[in-house]
Amino acid sequence: MGGGLAGLAAATLLGRAGRQTLLLERAARPGGRAATQVERGFHQNLGPHALYVGGPAEAVLKELGVAAPGGRPPSGGLAVRAGRLHRLPEGPASLLATGVLGWSGKLEASCLLARLPRLDAPTLDGVPLATWLDRTVTRPDVRALLEALARVATYADDPTRLSAGLVVRQLQAVVGAGVRYVDGGWQALVDGLARAADGAGVEVRARCAARELVPADDHVVVRTDGGDLTAGVVVVAAGPAEAHDLLPADPDLARWRAAAAPVRAACLDLGLSRLPRPRATFVVGIDRPLYLSVHSAAARLAPEGAALIHVAKYLAPDQDVEPAAVERELDGLLDLAQPGWRDAVVTRRLLPRLTVTHAAPLAAHGGVSGRPGPALPRQPRVLVAGDWVGPEGHLADAALSSARAAARAALAASAPSG
Ligand SMILES: Cc1cc2nc3c(=O)[nH]c(=O)nc-3n(C[C@H](O)[C@H](O)[C@H](O)COP(=O)(O)OP(=O)(O)OC[C@H]3O[C@@H](n4cnc5c(N)ncnc54)[C@H](O)[C@@H]3O)c2cc1C
Repeated sequence: MGGGLAGLAAATLLGRAGRQTLLLERAARPGGRAATQVERGFHQNLGPHALYVGGPAEAVLKELGVAAPGGRPPSGGLAVRAGRLHRLPEGPASLLATGVLGWSGKLEASCLLARLPRLDAPTLDGVPLATWLDRTVTRPDVRALLEALARVATYADDPTRLSAGLVVRQLQAVVGAGVRYVDGGWQALVDGLARAADGAGVEVRARCAARELVPADDHVVVRTDGGDLTAGVVVVAAGPAEAHDLLPADPDLARWRAAAAPVRAACLDLGLSRLPRPRATFVVGIDRPLYLSVHSAAARLAPEGAALIHVAKYLAPDQDVEPAAVERELDGLLDLAQPGWRDAVVTRRLLPRLTVTHAAPLAAHGGVSGRPGPALPRQPRVLVAGDWVGPEGHLADAALSSARAAARAALAASAPSG
């Protein structure tokens, strides 16, 4: 159950393997956090979404025959510090030119960036980002830059707890193959997966929430709004809280739910009739946890000549959000990067408290290698999938990688005996 990317992928893999598969989704349509809203020709994801090129998500999409065309964000990014714009150090030339680092900082940063591809990320899984930076970086300006890049690559603003192994993996992926914005928004992925599910004979039942799972020796009863169903195996492709609500007596789910540290962001999705400064397409906050990117500069997301922009603030754990205050902060970043934008607004949507991932890979849990599932130790007929599950990837990469692992485990659990 759960019709986001993970649930759609797991169901399709099970359907293709010949299993009779029913996918329950409590919302009116599948998609979850990968859904895209189209308004007046602007395709707005739920906040900024970028697919890691060559990552686990793309591998699963390819396996299922789902194309994800689009484009890479253009280079020439900017960094904002103390209310002023600078070049974002992305390569040797911008590193030399940037105003966010002094000369010693430029030297230290260039050595570190040169070493980055060779760093052994798994050895840093249990090390907090802040501890790793204490060991690795001497200059405060370099530290501030790395913390900013870590936020962009992970969405998390939690250096004292976040796994340095995750940060290194994500930065290696960004400087390696990079990311892609998807034409038409992530709805294209949802629609492609929904078509693949249909082709695999999966029945998708929307507006049908699962309320409780009652496992027995050789089956699981799924209590839903529409009555009881019986399944050989259930894949719960939802968050740890939702999974625990379905099986409240399961001690592992209770523990995983309590341990999960969600990553949240405040997002402003904006459609502009024109872009006042066409070259200012990407801005990273150095001294504040802010992000701005013109996604339509890389993918087909807006009418001809218009621009689709995502602006975001990475929220610290347990940070209180006052929507009007965060909106003023995000507007302020736009004033700086795209002066005159207010006269060009066609669509505008503030989403002040989005859950980016249900659980940040924390150093104390062993980073990504310490994430739970997809198997539940005490429930052989129930599996979990999602961006908080399994030892591979972050965000959608984790969601789709764990979906594949959950589908394989479900096939093994439901294999005909003899
Ligand atoms: C602002 C923002 C930015 C992001 N940026 C990126 C990015 O750049 N790159 C990236 O890789 N990822 C990104 N992500 C993360 C990505 O969107 C998610 O990791 C991915 O979509 C999760 O898919 P999922 O299927 O695991 O979960 P979800 O999409 O949350 O799907 C779960 C589904 O289960 C359904 N459900 C829950 N409970 C029940 C129930 N009891 N019965 C039936 N149905 C139920 C829900 O309605 C939902 O449809 C971002 C997310 C956000 C919010």
